[in-house]
Amino acid sequence: MYGVIEGTGFEAIEPEFEACFIGHARVERLWSGARWSEGPVWFAAGRYLLWSDIPNNRILRWDDTDGAVSVFRQPSNNANGHTVDRQGRLVSCEHLTRRVTRTEHDGSVTVLADHWRGKRLNSPNDVVVKSDGSVWFTDPSYGIMMDYEGDRAKSEIDACHVYRIDPTGDITIVADEYLKPNGLAFSPDESLLYIADTGATHHAGGPKHIRRHRVNADGSLSGGDVFAECTNGLFDGFRLDRDGRIWTSATDGVHCYAPDGRLIGKVLIPEMVANVCFGGPKLNRLFICGTTSLYAVFLNVNGVSPV
Ligand code: MG
Repeated sequence: MYGVIEGTGFEAIEPEFEACFIGHARVERLWSGARWSEGPVWFAAGRYLLWSDIPNNRILRWDDTDGAVSVFRQPSNNANGHTVDRQGRLVSCEHLTRRVTRTEHDGSVTVLADHWRGKRLNSPNDVVVKSDGSVWFTDPSYGIMMDYEGDRAKSEIDACHVYRIDPTGDITIVADEYLKPNGLAFSPDESLLYIADTGATHHAGGPKHIRRHRVNADGSLSGGDVFAECTNGLFDGFRLDRDGRIWTSATDGVHCYAPDGRLIGKVLIPEMVANVCFGGPKLNRLFICGTTSLYAVFLNVNGVSPV
């Protein structure tokens, strides 16, 4: 059940992808038993990985020192995406409570955002922290559309936006032209912000792409051209490596895009992938949340340090 799994491997679409993987490295299934795996986040100091099992209302923890998996938090308020801030604290998106939270070093939970101008958020989905301490998150309505991953409810805002929380706590809409904003990540120098739109889930012919914005000095975004269209399913969550490649979820595994938008290769996974992150002491191991299971593979690239 665990270990190297049939149906996994590398698919080079462009020759340059061959330099990104290690020929004899194999995709391993580290654990299985989730209903929908999402939101992996690596904690360097503790050498462990957390990820969400959204329908089961729990956050799981995989220990790099012995491979053990345990429940980190249950109930998790149907937590979805996570990241770590510059102080190494967990920042989480919660569907059930429709908020973004930070878990402090003493274990207490601080609410960073749950309203926009008096109206409840929909169901925050994915989150990143910039080096200036600002917290950027997407707020599609997936967590309030049914009772499976939260509580069914009407959207109070009646739209799905991307928000920035300033270090002062002020919340600003940074993108309002998305149908279902989902994963997001900065370029290594933070000059660019990539945001996925998975609007095709509920809109015929809707977006299934990643757009690329320029990040302005005042925290606003400009640009926003389509960077890549998904060729198999939808882009949900993604991360960048230090050379600016995008490693993104898709139906048949992880798709890797060059910074110029070319699909250069894939890591094939036998389950639908929702999100990924780089981890391990050298950030050269890609952790992959694939529906029921947590997978990992060592690569010949390194992730952008999350802290
Ligand atoms: Mg997502």
